[in-house]
Amino acid sequence: MEKSRSGRLGYPVVPMSQGPTVYLETFGCQMNELDSELVRGQLRSLGYRFVADPARADVVLYNTCSVREQAENKAYSRLGLIGMRKKAGEHVILGVLGCMAERDGADMLRRFPQVDLLCGPGELDRLPALLDNVRRTEGASREERIALAGNKSRRSATLAAAEDQLELLDLSRAFDPAAPGADHRSAYVRITRGCNKFCTYCVVPNTRGAEVHRPPDSIVDECKRLVDAGVVEITLLGQTVNHYRYTHGKAVGVEGVELPQVGPGLSAFRSPIPAGERVTTFAELLRRIHDEVPALRRLRFVTSYPRDFGDDILDVMAASPRICRYIHAPAQSGSDRILKLMNRGYTRGEYLEFIARVTEKLPDCTIAGDIIVGFPTETEADFEETVSLVRAVPFKNNFIFKYSPRPGTTAITRFEDDVPTDVKKLRNNILLDVQSEVSARVHASWVGKTVEVLVESSEDDSEAADADTQTSESKTDASLGAGEHGATRATIALPQFGAQNQPRRSTASGVASGRAPHARCVGRTQGDLIVAIDVTGTPDWAMTLKPGSLISVEIRGSAPLLLRGRPVKTAAAAF
Ligand code: SF4
Repeated sequence: MEKSRSGRLGYPVVPMSQGPTVYLETFGCQMNELDSELVRGQLRSLGYRFVADPARADVVLYNTCSVREQAENKAYSRLGLIGMRKKAGEHVILGVLGCMAERDGADMLRRFPQVDLLCGPGELDRLPALLDNVRRTEGASREERIALAGNKSRRSATLAAAEDQLELLDLSRAFDPAAPGADHRSAYVRITRGCNKFCTYCVVPNTRGAEVHRPPDSIVDECKRLVDAGVVEITLLGQTVNHYRYTHGKAVGVEGVELPQVGPGLSAFRSPIPAGERVTTFAELLRRIHDEVPALRRLRFVTSYPRDFGDDILDVMAASPRICRYIHAPAQSGSDRILKLMNRGYTRGEYLEFIARVTEKLPDCTIAGDIIVGFPTETEADFEETVSLVRAVPFKNNFIFKYSPRPGTTAITRFEDDVPTDVKKLRNNILLDVQSEVSARVHASWVGKTVEVLVESSEDDSEAADADTQTSESKTDASLGAGEHGATRATIALPQFGAQNQPRRSTASGVASGRAPHARCVGRTQGDLIVAIDVTGTPDWAMTLKPGSLISVEIRGSAPLLLRGRPVKTAAAAF
């Protein structure tokens, strides 16, 4: 192989024309999506070329998630398929990234000998070196094939952040046109890594390590660069974003550059900032991004922890029109007894008090949540408490999951999984029906209003079912898909409006075809409500409603998980 030279992060660069092809598939949450985006940028800059088909790849990478059993099973079946290719004599490098690699460690190499390398979420900066080792040396040693941080990432507050290459990875990032959301010009920006909450059902604190907060200047700079590259919507990511807190002067590198630092204990959120300390809170960070990046059209954040979400954050949201009125705050259960077993650190009453503050200060704010049914020992009475909580809160949607014990969690060792599967299923279905009623009410309350919509999909040329049919499909999506740290936002297929008799104007890319139109545009409101935009009879809609456009839409109808509307005249779009 050609002698390697050194790349941006000190790793060997492969000549672009000869660079190996890579297939990268991501499972799980937004945090994983962002990690994959960073991996793509890092490997691309070293000459690797990405392909959409694993059969054409020299290197296959799976960025895995341990939070849900379903995502894990999918990853295992992918490993099996690559194993068959390798048995048949194909030469392909197989790497497992993310939480499954971190949790299973070297045991995974024993169980799946087809796996060539493991890289945990805290060590992604070392991936190029691991790949290089495997590529250069057929029989790379076990150590050369594994980069896992494990509990060593739970370092003290004096975190040696100067050596934190992960921060470099975030900083070196460019807008990735292949990233999820890129087509409608949305991007994620990480503000914290890891988690200190130790909910008993969750493996994240062990796989992603201690909560580490990025310096605010780095975050603001990254937002500016993304907006300069054309991004219109940024979502700040953290396992518990409202616990972001950066104490200035505590972690400083060469030439006074601020470095990532381990998050403070819970007492920091319950007492005033000590005299003489300069702290950037989450509220302050939001205000800074809103004010210092005026070209950013939308700023949102996930996931919020229902505890320690102060009025200061709500006040900044209320005063900042480009911060989205949307809060995803998983309740997980409505029963105090179960919340305690989950180690969530708040009561049902405290959750409801938080929601009351949100709706009082931000009446137009939408709320989403997550619920786990069938947690160990959950009784009918506990479940009824959850049902009544879901009825009491104006959730636009709730991601409802049946509990399954996850390896590496406290719950799997401490509690017996004693709620029978059919009871879990029944509770799941009951709650989905209740949530569907609540969602229908929330969506109906928007009818007659005019809202700003960010167009996500716009096309007029594919098979599509009726919008109402899509609504029921989305209910299934929601029950399986997104969640606190489990997966991405719920998706909805493009709906179709009855426009068959209208002459077709043009496609989303502006190419006229002369066939009957199937005009379909879908976007989201600031509050993350999905809007199907009826463009029937709207001239030149495809030119104006491109993905990434912000338009005003008058809401004329609703379904449990969908709004329907018509574009209205604006300065930008004269319909
Ligand atoms: S569920 Fe969320 S808050 Fe709880 S431990 Fe997991 S990542 Fe942290």
